[in-house]
Amino acid sequence: MVKEKKKTTDKKLAKMKKEKDSKVRAKEAGKEVSEKHECNDIKCPFHGKLKTRGRIFEGIVVRKFPKRITIEFERSVYIRKYERYMKKKTRIHARLPDCQAPNVNIGDIVQVQECRPLSKLIHHVFIKKIKDASEK
Ligand SMILES: [Zn+2]
Repeated sequence: MVKEKKKTTDKKLAKMKKEKDSKVRAKEAGKEVSEKHECNDIKCPFHGKLKTRGRIFEGIVVRKFPKRITIEFERSVYIRKYERYMKKKTRIHARLPDCQAPNVNIGDIVQVQECRPLSKLIHHVFIKKIKDASEK
């Protein structure tokens, strides 16, 4: 009698465990699916397989294209002859993933990080928005 009881409880426990596992798995799968559904961009640093490395730059968005932004920032270059600094502007083309496109507009201050060369012009990718164009 006692043995039988033990068996049943074990079975019940096993069943419960299985149910739990399946529930957890379903949850995880659902999460993955929903996340993937949000962004199907392979070259997205958040949802895709694009890895970032190297230098990070901050700048103002001066142009916006589908899947691409241009940022601009100032740097100073020393001129030896005049012993003074000259302001120079650098423009960087960065990839803009589909999921981030609605958040970024011209005039925003954003951060981009270096990645593998994605095209002749693009070897950076958008990673963070620092300031909106409207707030100053
Ligand atoms: Zn994405």
